[in-house]
Amino acid sequence: MSAAELRQRGVESGLRTPPADQMSPPQSDDESNFVVPSRGGKKATKKDSLAQPEEPDMPDDYVTRTLAREPALPPIEWKNLLSEIQWVSAIVLTTTPLLAIYGMCTTSLNWKTFVWAVIYYFMTGLGITAGHHRLWAHRSYIASKPLEYLLCLWGAGAVQGSIHWWARGHRAHHRYTDTDLDPYGAHFGLLWSHLGWMIVKPRRKPGVADISDLRKNSVIKFNHKFYLPLIFIMGFAVPTLVAHFGWQDARGGFFYAGVARLVFVHHSTFCVNSLAHYLGEATFDNKMTPRDSFFTALVTVGEGYHNFHHQFPMDFRNAIQWYQYDPTKWFIQSMQAIGLASHLKTFPDNEIQKGRIAMKLQKLHQEQASLEWPKHSNDLPVLSYEDFKEEAASRPLVILHGFVLDVSGFMDSHPGGRALLSTRTGKDISTAFVGGVYDHSRSAHSLAAQMRVGVLDGGYIPPQCKMDAVEDTPAVPTPPKDERDICDVARKYITPGEAYVVTKRSDLIANVRDSQGRVGKW
Ligand SMILES: [Zn+2]
Ligand SMILES: [Zn+2]
Repeated sequence: MSAAELRQRGVESGLRTPPADQMSPPQSDDESNFVVPSRGGKKATKKDSLAQPEEPDMPDDYVTRTLAREPALPPIEWKNLLSEIQWVSAIVLTTTPLLAIYGMCTTSLNWKTFVWAVIYYFMTGLGITAGHHRLWAHRSYIASKPLEYLLCLWGAGAVQGSIHWWARGHRAHHRYTDTDLDPYGAHFGLLWSHLGWMIVKPRRKPGVADISDLRKNSVIKFNHKFYLPLIFIMGFAVPTLVAHFGWQDARGGFFYAGVARLVFVHHSTFCVNSLAHYLGEATFDNKMTPRDSFFTALVTVGEGYHNFHHQFPMDFRNAIQWYQYDPTKWFIQSMQAIGLASHLKTFPDNEIQKGRIAMKLQKLHQEQASLEWPKHSNDLPVLSYEDFKEEAASRPLVILHGFVLDVSGFMDSHPGGRALLSTRTGKDISTAFVGGVYDHSRSAHSLAAQMRVGVLDGGYIPPQCKMDAVEDTPAVPTPPKDERDICDVARKYITPGEAYVVTKRSDLIANVRDSQGRVGKW
């Protein structure tokens, strides 16, 4: 089919891809705050929003293009603060803590109410972590309808926006992490990512995210449609009524299991956006801000291994080790055990381990770079054997594995005594060094390497070898058998990365040739 035919078909079917420079991001319900769900944007009807393509033909430079074309709102200052506040969110987030403090100061705490409040904290927390987050935002497992409704109700009790709104924002957070299209970008600071992004109007529209799958889900439609009554029933009525009918403590149920519990659940989830991008280790990747932390996991019902989560977002786990705290993972596994959840997704362990090893190697390289290492053979002057002998007459030089070592600073520190070194000045000590007299440790090899001042022309040349043969011919005379044995022993001591192989004399000769192809001289 020709390009013209394809274009014609597009016109006929009503499909049209605008030129990239005319493209604008799709409308979405970004403007809604986390309490009052929108109905698909200010102007669009619900029907329109359902018909809207979720993932238009995005240009490859979508992020930079969008940031350039859509200027951000002016920064928040004292003079524009009042006009920029999202009042519904701000009032909810400020009155609930005040109400909780008032309630706790005026209501005695029944231990049954305390236990119920803790249990209800975990139930509503799981509604967010196992429901809004891992099930709907990430599709990391399949839940049966009863479980979907249960998580929908629990999540409503956490009063953090409808599933639709929550998951859409979270998908944008993952797709545009640490860019200005991330609705709660950690790069704007801890306060912004924790609360600020809800209290003031968004400075710019979050990046586009595909939520077409969520629009089809009947539970999400139910949640979106009845969101306001649901948050009052699940957020306040249920905790109050359970305490009232259970042990006649309606007031305690309202203030402790309702309001105070809600404040804890709010800040528990908010910590996933703030603390989880700030505190802890970059176990799998340090390119972006997410971090792994036991403390964050503790206060977020197990969402604290956020570095892992951003690397492997479709994995139903946050913590992959059995001893790490992830009650959300345990809950999902329990649901699988009783047949209410299935198809739990995990990333291949091989890929996970590659990420971990890459970070370990990066740390080791950083540590390595902080140490002083021996000079590379290419950076050392090349001495002929005669020059070495001549120089050794005036200072204590020895040959070890083809390198010329100046041992003057070590003569008195040598554990074997000064004499062992001083009597070998001007000689090759390789045989003695690797077992002829004493089989030196790796540390001794490393220390000796630091004393390198030159490379012997031709590499590892025992004093008895004639230098003339090496001077003119790259071909290396075969060493006598006992010498090869010593070389084999020496090879064991070569540190990987130390560009020097004892037995390859010809390589070393090649290394030290100058630009004219001559073997170098000092
Ligand atoms: Zn995150
Ligand atoms: Zn996530």
